[in-house]
Amino acid sequence: MKIHEYQGKEILRRYGVTVPLGVVCRSIEEVSHLAPTIMGPPWVVKAQIHAGGRGKGGGVKVVSSLEDVHRAADEMLGMMLVTHQTSPDGQQVRWVLIEEGVAIESEMYLGIVIDRVSQRVVIIGSAQGGMDIESVAASTPEHIHRLPVDPSAGVDDGNVAWLSKKMGIPPDLQHEAAELISSVYEAFWESDASLVEINPLIVTKDQRLIALDAKFNFDDSALFRQPDIAALRDLDEENQDEVDASAHGLNYIALDGSIGCLVNGAGLAMATMDIIKFYGGEPANFLDVGGGATTEQVTEAFKLMLRNESLRAILVNIFGGIMRCDVVAKGLVSAAREVNLDVPLVVRLEGTNVERGREILAESDIEIIPAATMAEAAEKVVAAAG
Ligand code: ADP
Ligand code: MG
Repeated sequence: MKIHEYQGKEILRRYGVTVPLGVVCRSIEEVSHLAPTIMGPPWVVKAQIHAGGRGKGGGVKVVSSLEDVHRAADEMLGMMLVTHQTSPDGQQVRWVLIEEGVAIESEMYLGIVIDRVSQRVVIIGSAQGGMDIESVAASTPEHIHRLPVDPSAGVDDGNVAWLSKKMGIPPDLQHEAAELISSVYEAFWESDASLVEINPLIVTKDQRLIALDAKFNFDDSALFRQPDIAALRDLDEENQDEVDASAHGLNYIALDGSIGCLVNGAGLAMATMDIIKFYGGEPANFLDVGGGATTEQVTEAFKLMLRNESLRAILVNIFGGIMRCDVVAKGLVSAAREVNLDVPLVVRLEGTNVERGREILAESDIEIIPAATMAEAAEKVVAAAG
């Protein structure tokens, strides 16, 4: 799960990290009321969307009068902001953050990620922060410094001091920077974050250390024990199909192809997508209905897939292990009836009570193309999709 910059800054503030004072507004009326409470000039008007690269895309404006704050906010609210991290259509701006502008002496980068290779949390620092960090990482990776953290020991003071030196923090601020890095690590750890990025972390002209941007991603699987974090969720920023899917316990990811896949189990879903590609087709989605695959879930899954205008055929690939194939077959038939399925439906069932399951499908009034093996199912669905 992602959150907005202003929410990330609130978390950082709770951990003692200095961030600019700001107000978040969702209408121009709120801007009129709240902007005058922020010190300026300058002020900075920042579009709040779940994507970075806003500065380059016109989503961050430094202005020198309250009139210009008003004008910039009015332009941003409602606009489709396109950055290198959004889709080509962009993301609609529903909130703007108005904050005090600070005089920047230098911009650094501080990030914390989980490195799958070393199976460690890694703190990343660079003296070359700001809007070009991606090109720094690509062309001069020696300017990116990595500090792996032993999870049982936590951050080591000496190592953190090393990193803050590498980040080019001035000597007088070293101690404060080390504390800041430890605090950000604590915020990361205690909130079950999967990523924290402060880019830029800055030194101001008057030698203060401030987090000017804040990005947090959280591990969805941990949200059940992080009610405060879960409450920060902004569903408007998320893919509507994926939101609806998760409300029904479905793991759904939209893709570009034309063949809908309804599968139980993530591994089988991956294998199904692979074999569709092997036979020359393109999956329209990844969809794991989990171990249950109730009639209600299958109905919702069909509905989700049918929203996709590129859909040409559906492959249902179910392995009845704990779940019985006859129960699945009944569910499939009533779901297909309820949604008025108007694309070819290929079904491959295997497992417990499979004979009875196949009979139920054959006896039903739903037009089903049966398949006995995965290969046969994939070939048939690719042919059916044209
Ligand atoms: P993004 O990463 O989405 O481009 P940032 O929040 O990092 O957005 O802002 C982009 C740039 O705008 C920063 O690198 C910084 O130079 C400038 N900036 C952002 N906030 C402020 C602020 N409060 N005061 C002064 N400059 C700012
Ligand atoms: Mg940034």
